[in-house]
Amino acid sequence: MQFIKGVGPRKAILLEKLRLTSIEDCLYFLPFRFEDRTQFKKISQAIPGEYVTLTGEVLNSGTMFMGRRKRVFEVIVQDETGIIRAKWFRFNETYMKEKFATGQKIIFSGKPTINKRSGLEIIHPDTEQVSGKNVSSLEIGKIVPVYHVTDGLHLKSMRTIIKNVLDKYLHLAEEFLPDDLIQRHNFMPRSEALTQSHFPPEGSSLEELDAFKTPAQRRLVFEELFLIQLALAFRKNRAGEEHIGTAFKTRGELIKRFVKLLPFTLTGAQKKVLGEIMKDLEKEKPMNRLIQGDVGSGKTIVALTALLTAVDNGTQSALMVPTEILAEQHYLNIRPFCEKLGIEIKLVTSALKGKERKIHLEDILSGKTQIVVGTHSLIQKDIQFKKLGLAVIDEQHRFGVMQREAIGKKGDHPHLLIMTATPIPRSLALTLYGDMDVSLLDELPPGRQEIATNLFFENRREKAYGIMEKQLQQGRQAFVVCPLIEESESIDLKAAVTVFDFIQEQYPNFTACMIHGKLKKEERQDIMSRFLKKEIQILVSTTVIEVGIDVPNATVMIIEHAERFGLAQLHQLRGRVGRGSHASYCLLMAYHPVSEEGQARMKAMQNSGDGFVIAEEDLKIRGPGDFMGTRQSGIPLLKIANLLRDIQVLETARNEAFQLIESDPDFSDPKHQPLNKALKRFLGNYMELMDVI
Ligand code: ADP
Ligand code: MG
Repeated sequence: MQFIKGVGPRKAILLEKLRLTSIEDCLYFLPFRFEDRTQFKKISQAIPGEYVTLTGEVLNSGTMFMGRRKRVFEVIVQDETGIIRAKWFRFNETYMKEKFATGQKIIFSGKPTINKRSGLEIIHPDTEQVSGKNVSSLEIGKIVPVYHVTDGLHLKSMRTIIKNVLDKYLHLAEEFLPDDLIQRHNFMPRSEALTQSHFPPEGSSLEELDAFKTPAQRRLVFEELFLIQLALAFRKNRAGEEHIGTAFKTRGELIKRFVKLLPFTLTGAQKKVLGEIMKDLEKEKPMNRLIQGDVGSGKTIVALTALLTAVDNGTQSALMVPTEILAEQHYLNIRPFCEKLGIEIKLVTSALKGKERKIHLEDILSGKTQIVVGTHSLIQKDIQFKKLGLAVIDEQHRFGVMQREAIGKKGDHPHLLIMTATPIPRSLALTLYGDMDVSLLDELPPGRQEIATNLFFENRREKAYGIMEKQLQQGRQAFVVCPLIEESESIDLKAAVTVFDFIQEQYPNFTACMIHGKLKKEERQDIMSRFLKKEIQILVSTTVIEVGIDVPNATVMIIEHAERFGLAQLHQLRGRVGRGSHASYCLLMAYHPVSEEGQARMKAMQNSGDGFVIAEEDLKIRGPGDFMGTRQSGIPLLKIANLLRDIQVLETARNEAFQLIESDPDFSDPKHQPLNKALKRFLGNYMELMDVI
C-alpha cells in the first residue's frame, strides 16, 4: 500500500487493520455514511438532538477536571451568532491543544445537547481544521464521505488516501458487465460508479446516499450480488450436466403400503413438497433440494417417504442428523414403520462400538441394512454403503458445508435432500442455497394451537412455575431448559443442577429427571422413553433437547436465562411444545441485566410464533455478517451489498445471472470474457464460496 501517495509505513499498518491491503480493497471501501457540508448552520441555529455541521473559531480550549479522576477536554467555539462547547472524554492532551489552538478555524459536526451548567455542547464531534494552506476541497462545501477509521488514522487522511487511489488507479477498474445488461438497467460505467460512490457529485441527495440508493451505489451493489449469483448459477448448471445418478420409480407398492400405515392424512403442504421431491427423484440428475419447514411442520414423514422410495428402488438410504438424541429419536420413530414394512433399519452414532459396530458396518456394506439413521458418524471413513441412492440431512443448519458434501460422496451421486427448521430470510436463502431447489413446508398439521409466550423476571419466578404446576396437575408435561454454554460448562451445569434440585423439592408429587449431554446413551434413551410414556412429568435439560424432540403431551416450556439464548435457538426450543391439541406455554425466565439485543430477542419471541418473521428479526438484530456464523454456513462476506437492504437488487441480479448461464453455460461467448475473468477474481477473494463451487 505504500506506493499510494500519502501512505507511509505507519499508515500502511493502520490500513491493514481495516483490511485494506490492495488498490481494489480501497476502491471498494465505501463510505458508510455521508455528511452534508454544503450548508453550514450558524451556532444560534443548532437544535439539541439534531445533527448539524457548524463552523467557527476556537475561543479557548483546555483540559477541565470534573471530580478527582475525570478529565474533559473542552473547546469553546464562536461564530458571529454565539458560542458552543465541544467536549472529549478520551483524548491526547498535547495533540488536542495543538489542534484546537486559540484562533484556529474549525468545522465540526455532531448532535448538540444541553448541559445545565454550561449550555449547548457537542460531545465527541467530528472535526476538521480549516487554515489557509489546509483548506481541502474534499472537506468543505460538499457532501463528504464518512469512512470507518481506526485509532491513529483520521477521517481526513482516509479521504485523501481514497481520493489519491481513485485519481491514480481508477483506470484499472475495467468494465466487465456485458453491454446489453448495462443498457437494460441503465447502469453507469464501473469507474464512474466507484468515483461517485466515494465522492458524490453536486446535487446528490444525502438521503439517497445514506440509503445506498444512488445510481452509482446501486450499480456496485448489483455487481457484487450478480457475481455471487453467477457462481451459484454456474454451479447448479454444472451439477446437472456432469453428475448422472439413478432415476427412481416413485409411488411404488411400498409407498402405498406405508401411506396406509400413517395415523393421519398428509397436510396439503406435505403433499405438495412430496410431489416436488418425487419429480426430482424420477430424474437421473441427482436431486439437490432444500426443504424449509418451521418446527413441527412434519418434515420427518416427508423424509421417510423419500427414504422408502430409495429402498423401493433397490438402493439404500441414509438420514443424517446433528445430535445423538435426535438420531435415537428418529430411529425409534421410524423403526415401527420399517418393521411393519419388512425393512432393515440401523442406527449409527459414535456410541456404537466394538463388535456391534463391526456387524452394523458389515450389514451396511453388504446392503442388508436398507435405511441407516445416524449422526456425523455416518460420514466417517469406515462406513461404506453397497449402493446409497438417497441421503437426507435433517436440521442441516447445524452442519457445515463440508459435512453436507461428504455424505454425498458416500454413494455414486446419490439424491440429496436437505431439511432445515431454521427458516432464513429469502435474501439469505438465495445467497446461501442459491444453487439448490427449495421447497417450502408452509403449513402446520391441523389442530395446532398458538403457543402463549411470556416473559418473566426473577421476581415473578413463582408465577412462571405456577403456570407449569397447573399444567402438570392437568396431566400435561413440562420441559425446563437451562443454558449450557461451552466456555462455562461446569458453572452452567451446576446452575442446571440447582434448578433441578429446586424443582424436586418444590414438586415432590411429580417425577422430575435431568438430561444433559454427558449422560450415557442408555440413560438418555431411558429417560426420553419414560418421558414419552408420561412416567416423567418434568424434564430438566440443557439444550440437548433443542432440535427435533417430539412429545405432544408436553405443553409447558420454561426457559431459564432466556436472555442468554439466541433467537433461532429460542424458537427451536419453543417448537418442542404446542405439538398436540392442548394449549401450550413458553415461559421465558430472564435475569437482569439484559442487554439491548437480549431485550429485542425477548420481544421478538413474544410478538411472533412464525419462524420466518423471527428469522427476519434475527437478521435485523444481528446483521447478516453474524447470522448463523459466517464461516460455517458459507455466507460470503459481502463488502457492499446488504442482504437486508438490497433484496430487490438481489432478485434482479439473480435473474440476470441465471439467464446468462442458461444462454452461455461456460462463458464461451467472447463478449462474456471480461465477466469470466471478474468472476474468477471475485471467487479468489471468497475462498469460502470457492470451497463449495
Ligand atoms: P418437524 O418438521 O419439526 O421435524 P415432525 O416431523 O417431528 O416435525 O412432526 C411433528 C409432529 O407432527 C409429529 O408428532 C408428527 O407425527 C406430527 N405430524 C406430522 N405430519 C402430520 C399430519 N399431516 N397430521 C397430523 N400430525 C402430523
Ligand atoms: Mg424434525
